[in-house]
Amino acid sequence: MLSNIRIVLVQTFHPGNIGAAARAMKTMGLTNLVLVNPRTFPDDEATRLAAGATDVLENARCVSSLEDAVHDCVQVVGASARLRSLPLPHFDEPDDMARQVIESATQAPVALVFGRERSGLTNNEIRCCTHQVSIPANPEYGILNLSQAVQILAYEVHRAWRKRDESGFAYQRPLEATPPSREQLVYFQEHLGHLMQQSGFLTQPHARTEEQLQALFARAQPSRKELSLLRGLLSAFESHLPKH
Ligand code: SAH
Repeated sequence: MLSNIRIVLVQTFHPGNIGAAARAMKTMGLTNLVLVNPRTFPDDEATRLAAGATDVLENARCVSSLEDAVHDCVQVVGASARLRSLPLPHFDEPDDMARQVIESATQAPVALVFGRERSGLTNNEIRCCTHQVSIPANPEYGILNLSQAVQILAYEVHRAWRKRDESGFAYQRPLEATPPSREQLVYFQEHLGHLMQQSGFLTQPHARTEEQLQALFARAQPSRKELSLLRGLLSAFESHLPKH
């Protein structure tokens, strides 16, 4: 189950933070590290700070976009010190997040995503997430070092895994009741966007309508079955559009 939990670091600047994050992960039984465009990797400083977790670094995968890192995940949780404008479902307490992540990870991959040291995650990257989590901290100085944020969330995930109710998890959700993968959600969003353009519903090129509707569907957390119903509905509408 822990092998289904992926730690994703976006454009990390200091290679030492990558090493320290790998160490933080391994102490909590997590080994699946994905790096999105790291500034330098592999790197001696990363290896030095990884200490006994160099195997996590050796097995780390580098990809060129966050979408590539999470497309097969059913839950993507962005760690952020601040609330952004996008109203995604938000965990105010990391232990609530950890319990849900452990439950989702019984069936499919999930990701915890961490931003850049200086600027965190962009709004576009937050759009790749299904949820956000914040580590409650000093309101006057609440931004943690990247690898320490990884340590805290990894600890919570490991704790939720230790304390999981085996009897509760013995029940496997039927496939249609599982959450869709990120890729399936993107197909739906593209389909919806296309239909909004084609039908003339969207008239201004920069309207935030599309974004707001995406946030609505993210909050609703549809199952695979519900998402395929929605796609069927869009296709039915589409078939009534005048042909160009
Ligand atoms: N200046 C950046 C902070 C970057 S800290 C900003 O304002 O967003 C690097 C990363 O560590 C963040 O992107 C986030 O993923 C994680 N992090 C740091 N402090 C955190 C906190 N209190 N809660 C959740 N994640 C945090």
